[in-house]
Amino acid sequence: MKFIETRGNDSQPQHPVNVNFSEAILGPIASYGGIYAPETLPDLGEAFLKAHLNSSYKQLAKALLQAFEIDIAERVIDEALSSYDQFDDPNDPTPLVKVRDDLFVSELYHGPTRAFKDMALQPFGVLLSALAKYRDEDYLILAATSGDTGPAALETFKNRERVRVACMYPEGGTSDVQRLQMITEDADNLRVIGIHGDFDDAQSALKQLLGSQSFKQTLSEKKIHLSAANSVNFGRIIFQIIYHISAYLELVRREEITLGEKIYIAVPSGNFGNALGAYYAMQMGLPVEKILISTNNNKVLTGLIQDGHYDFRGASVIPTVAPAMDILKASNVERILFDLFGAERTRELMYQLDTERFYELSPSEHAELKAIFAADHCDDEETVGYVKRCFEDGYLMDPHTATCLKVYDNCRDKPLKTIVTSTAEWTKFSMTIAEAIGTESGSGDLDALKNISAKANIQIPAQIEALFDKPIAQKTLIDKDDIEKTILSFL
Ligand SMILES: *Cc1c(COP(=O)(O)O)cnc(C)c1O
Repeated sequence: MKFIETRGNDSQPQHPVNVNFSEAILGPIASYGGIYAPETLPDLGEAFLKAHLNSSYKQLAKALLQAFEIDIAERVIDEALSSYDQFDDPNDPTPLVKVRDDLFVSELYHGPTRAFKDMALQPFGVLLSALAKYRDEDYLILAATSGDTGPAALETFKNRERVRVACMYPEGGTSDVQRLQMITEDADNLRVIGIHGDFDDAQSALKQLLGSQSFKQTLSEKKIHLSAANSVNFGRIIFQIIYHISAYLELVRREEITLGEKIYIAVPSGNFGNALGAYYAMQMGLPVEKILISTNNNKVLTGLIQDGHYDFRGASVIPTVAPAMDILKASNVERILFDLFGAERTRELMYQLDTERFYELSPSEHAELKAIFAADHCDDEETVGYVKRCFEDGYLMDPHTATCLKVYDNCRDKPLKTIVTSTAEWTKFSMTIAEAIGTESGSGDLDALKNISAKANIQIPAQIEALFDKPIAQKTLIDKDDIEKTILSFL
C-alpha cells in the first residue's frame, strides 16, 4: 500500500508522489508541510472480524499490518509485536474492564511506562531502528515532552542501534513520576535535557534548534537524519488502530454485544492520534456509531466538532489536571480533513490555520464530521469529580480517562455499549488522584502514591516504586538558549 500527502504534491525532487510505509516513517514531513496518510484503507468487513474473534492481540495486530501491505520484513514485524510481551499480561496487553452495564474501560497503559503511548511507541521503536540498520543510516529523534511521550520514546529506543534520542522536558512541568522515568534512563544513545520554564519553552527550544543553520550543517556533516516520534508519524498511528478492534472483539467474546452491533468509542484527546486510530478502524468497517471526543479546558477540538470552527486565535495553553491533553493544535486532525475532504481542501484549511490560527468548515463538511464524531470538554473540577465518583463506584481511573465520562454522560443519542480508552495509569498523576479520592497528597508523588495505595487498597506497580530508588543518570538542566550547544555536544 502507498502513502500520499495530505496537502498534495509540490513536484519537488525530495517529495515523490507516493511513498511506501517505510519511507513515510523515516521522513514524515511531506509537501507544503503536510504529512502522510494511506492512499486507501483496507476493508476489513465482518469477515475479518469473524476470522479474528479468537485471535490473540499479536495475531490480530499482525493481520492488520498485513492488510496495510506494509513494506516491512515479517521477522521485523514479529519482533516489533513482541514488545507487547513486556506488558503486565502478554496474553492480554489491553484488559477491558466492565465499569457499568454499558460502560467498559479499555486499559491501554499496562506497558513499561504506564501510559498508552507504549502501545504505539514500543513497536515503533523496533521498526525505526531496524529500518535505520537496513539502510545503514543514523537517526536522531528530537522530542519535547510534557510528560508521557518522553518516557515512552526513551524506553523504546534505549540501546537501540543507529538511533539517538534527545528529549527535552520542562523542569517542574511534569509529575515526579514522569520526570524520574526520564532522568533515570541510563543509555549512551539517550540524552534527557531539563529546560528551565514550561512546556512552551521546551517546545520553542526545539523549534529554535530545528531552524538553526549550524545545527543542520552538523547533522549533514555527520550524516545524521532527523526523524520524529510524535504522532504525526504514521508509524505510530498504525498501531493505534489495533486496540480499538481488539476491544470490540472482546465485547463480542463476552457476549456483551453481537458481531455487527454498533458501539461508541470515547477518547480523551490531545494530538488526536488515538481518535484517528478509532476513525480508521471505523472507516475500515468496525461497527462504531460515533467516536466521542473529550478534551479538557483546552477545547479547540471540541469547538471544531460542535461548531465547525477550528479556532485558537488569542488562545494560549491552559494548564489542567489532564496535562497530556494541554494542546491547541491537534496534528492528526489533518488526516481526517484529508480523508473526508481531499488534499486540495486540506491544504487550504491548514494554510489558513498556520497563518491565521483559524478555519471554518462549510455546513456540509461540518455535517460530515458530526456524523462521525461528537465532542465535549471537561473542566478540572468536573474531571476531579468524575475520578471521585468513579472511585466510589469501585474503579480508579486517571484524570485524562475521566474526561471521557462527560461525553459518555452527554454525547450519546442511543443506548449503546461504550468503550472508554484509558490512556494512563493512576500512578502517573497521583497528586490529582489523591485530591480526588480524599486522601493526603503529601509533599510529592511518593507520598501521594502511598496514600492512594492504602486508601484504595491497590498496589503501586513495581516499575513505579523502583523509580524512587534508581540513580539519576541524566542531570542536564539548562536555559532554553543553550539547547543547541548541549545537543551538538551529544552528537
Ligand atoms: C498522549 C496522551 C493523550 C492524548 O492522546 P492523543 O492521541 O494525542 O490525542 C491522552 N492521555 C494521555 C495520558 C496521554 O499520554
